[in-house]
Amino acid sequence: MFDLTGKVAVVTGSSKGIGASIAVMLAAQGARVVVNYRSSPAEAEAVVAAITDRGGEAVAIQADVSQSEEAQRLIQTAIDTYGQIDILVNNAGTTRDQLIMKMKDEEWDLVLQTNLSSVYYCSKAVVRPMMKKRGGRIINITSVVGLSGQAGQTNYAASKAGIIGFTKSLAREVGSRNITANAVAPGFIPTALTNVLPEAQIESIKQNTPLGRLGTLEDVANAVLFLASDEAAFITGQVLTVDGGLVMQ
Ligand code: NAP
Repeated sequence: MFDLTGKVAVVTGSSKGIGASIAVMLAAQGARVVVNYRSSPAEAEAVVAAITDRGGEAVAIQADVSQSEEAQRLIQTAIDTYGQIDILVNNAGTTRDQLIMKMKDEEWDLVLQTNLSSVYYCSKAVVRPMMKKRGGRIINITSVVGLSGQAGQTNYAASKAGIIGFTKSLAREVGSRNITANAVAPGFIPTALTNVLPEAQIESIKQNTPLGRLGTLEDVANAVLFLASDEAAFITGQVLTVDGGLVMQ
């Protein structure tokens, strides 16, 4: 089950947090993995070491995927390195939380470029090689906030809701070439991105979660692994929510 031997995966923003966990998980199942980072080379090399120490294969590639040319360079370098790409996980993301009255245009632009435009740039760059191979998996990390909305996160929620519409449209465009496109929507997962939240808000999230706990990095990585696997061959255009039941649509 979930054997990725012979496959090549690119995971954007995998120097830490959820992306790092996804990279390690895919490598543990046999994939050769490109660990992408923007500004944390030491962390990215530590993820590569964690993979190679267990007998896996991985390489770290720096690229700011919020920029079109950088995203294209990432994908081309991955192909030059491993000869193919079978799995693209668009995970890189950031926040600049602010009430709309106080939000600066730069905060809006940065979050939209990093979270949404990066998904477009990287997906566009892999679609042609995947079409030639007649197969591929594109998995986009959205958020429950893209489904429910969140005060103080108009920029983030718009970017994550945008990912969902993008994923469904892409799934319709590339399905005939045996390429699937799905989204994973995590709930609250403790990482560098979320450690700014006050304790009271974290308690309230737990209380509103039917499973009564926060999610783990592995909870999210397991969902990505499933969608990346041959076992998920007939699933496309879907949003898999990994949130302990916090948001039910
Ligand atoms: P994190 O710990 O802050 O990690 C973010 C990662 O993205 C880092 O590896 C960072 O690399 C990379 N990154 C940021 N901007 C980038 C860019 N322009 N180009 C390339 N890489 C970039 O965040 P996380 O919590 O693991 O979040 C990962 C994804 O899950 C995000 O899309 C986030 O929106 C989503 N998510 C998270 C949660 C949660 O509760 N944590 C919930 C729902 C969805 P560098 O450090 O090298 O810059």
